Amino acid sequence: MDSLLITNGTVVTLGAAGRVLHRHDVLCEGGRIARIAPHGAVAAGEARVIDAAGKLVLPGFINAHTHFYSAFARGLGKAAPSASFREVLEHLWWRLDRALDLEDCRLSALVTAIDAVRHGTTTLVDHHASPHALRGSLDALAAAVGQAGIRACLCYEVSDRDGEAIAREGIAENAAFAARCQSERDPLLAAAFGLHAAFTLSDATLERAVAAAREHGVGFHVHVAEAASDEEHSMREHGERVVERLHRLGVLGPASIAAHCVHIDGHEAALLAETGTAVVHNPQSNMNNAVGVANVPGMLAAGVLVGLGTDAMTTDMLEELRAALFVRHLAAGDPSCGFSETVSLLVSGNARIAERFWPEEGLGELAEGHAADVVLVDYDPPTPLDEATLFGHLVFGVSQATVDTTIAGGRVLMTGKRLELDLDEAELMARARARSAALWERF
Ligand SMILES: [Zn+2]
Repeated sequence: MDSLLITNGTVVTLGAAGRVLHRHDVLCEGGRIARIAPHGAVAAGEARVIDAAGKLVLPGFINAHTHFYSAFARGLGKAAPSASFREVLEHLWWRLDRALDLEDCRLSALVTAIDAVRHGTTTLVDHHASPHALRGSLDALAAAVGQAGIRACLCYEVSDRDGEAIAREGIAENAAFAARCQSERDPLLAAAFGLHAAFTLSDATLERAVAAAREHGVGFHVHVAEAASDEEHSMREHGERVVERLHRLGVLGPASIAAHCVHIDGHEAALLAETGTAVVHNPQSNMNNAVGVANVPGMLAAGVLVGLGTDAMTTDMLEELRAALFVRHLAAGDPSCGFSETVSLLVSGNARIAERFWPEEGLGELAEGHAADVVLVDYDPPTPLDEATLFGHLVFGVSQATVDTTIAGGRVLMTGKRLELDLDEAELMARARARSAALWERF
């Protein structure tokens, strides 16, 4: 692990301290932040020096809900037009995931992970599907994220939509990966137990999944009430709402993530708060799929921990943050509402979600002793930058700036906009294009 000295930058700690420290240095040793001090106060010694003059030094961004496997959908024009969210799944995503093989999974993850490095996103919470290349798929993703050097929490989305045998295989895949994480204790990897969504899962499958997850001590990562049809299906088939059903079956809890929650009601929000289940808001995806706008203020008021994800629309968390703010304003018809609250989804919500998977790392905050997940962004502010103005700079300025350097766990993954990874990026992209063209033929 490199010893690094990041010099003379504007250090934006985020997190509990929330400081903006002009002309400061950050010393990283053994994968952790050893010192944050005024420029010149720390001797470089043997450390590699990275000049951060004219740059902000931020904690690596966290994406709390995404799908590596969707990378090969870009430009795929063969899906029939969809009139509903169910048709979006049937016409595009379920056809795509059935066509994936293990090498497609690995390459999808690798190109997405490299994109994340380029956008300063060092931690991703992924939700994977490849029902005809299921066994070993999480190991394939883990190999890719390991090569890119980022942190990832992986799971396989168990579903009954492809039959009981594949549902059982999905349970076994989650269990095998959780066991691997427990035995290897790789600080860059974590496991959750994936579930697709209530409307493709029987009670029997959910009971099996809950038993397996308990055995391995992991929480769930599941899509919840993304479209109104999920709630309608639950009422029709089970006589209860989605969150009530997941609660009855033991899916909720302080290690679990419910993505979306666009159509939950007040009682469901109260159940999520009471059980400590985190919700991840994905505004760009929700707009793109025309499923509605999640009641984030209502969930926060109910005491729910809410974070921000991209649902694979981007790896750029500041772009997603802007979308979250703009849709909030539009939905409320109020251009002044929810500014700090929305920024907090990314800045503190995602840090608290990441803490569930990496309790020792202090992700989302630059502080001594925390993991050295650090990003340098080219940004010379044209207006005063301090603790009071920081969020305005993040949304309206830093979001438009270029990431120069990305470091995860003390390893330099990119600096001067050049990747420092053991791979040939042009060759990788050519291979991904060839594999995706072949997949589109099978689609
Ligand atoms: Zn999703």
